[in-house]
Amino acid sequence: MMELKRIYWSRHALRLAYSALIVWLAVSVVLALMPKGNVGAGNSKSTVTEVFRSLVDGVLAAVAIPGLLIVALFIVAVVVHGRDVRRRDPIRRFSRQQRREGMARAGGQCEMEAGLRRRCSRPAEHGDHFYPWSKGGSTNLQNFVAACARCNRTKGARIPSPGQQARIKRRRREYVVPESSVSVGERRQLA
Ligand SMILES: [Zn+2]
Repeated sequence: MMELKRIYWSRHALRLAYSALIVWLAVSVVLALMPKGNVGAGNSKSTVTEVFRSLVDGVLAAVAIPGLLIVALFIVAVVVHGRDVRRRDPIRRFSRQQRREGMARAGGQCEMEAGLRRRCSRPAEHGDHFYPWSKGGSTNLQNFVAACARCNRTKGARIPSPGQQARIKRRRREYVVPESSVSVGERRQLA
């Protein structure tokens, strides 16, 4: 799955852009609410209503651009999620056969990493989707990773990093039989 790098980083970029926009929005509101020199003591004519209205106008003008961008980003997020859902494998659970083969490939030991990027030493209990099922990961041997209960729980439905993928591949070369593939991870095509 060569595209993992693109998927992983583009989603990180989305999240980063979203955080940046929220900060931009918050700062805009604060700046718009800060008292301005011409309002107040010197301007006795302005009523409370006028002051309030100009304040609201100021805030609305200040948040217009970041607000619009947040809406645009939200739409992108909805589209991305919709595509993840459309990619989902109709079969969620690995078959007995896949489980047996996957566990045998791992020698019954968890394939995830536990500290210092070393292989976890606990016995494998679960078949885990390396690329999460909920985001379109395939239910097949290519996407199967043997995991202990703790690693399975810790990983959750996060998209693995390209580094994690490379390290599992590297470790697999040490314990997988030569005729078996070491590559890991598969995302389903958009139908
Ligand atoms: Zn483990």
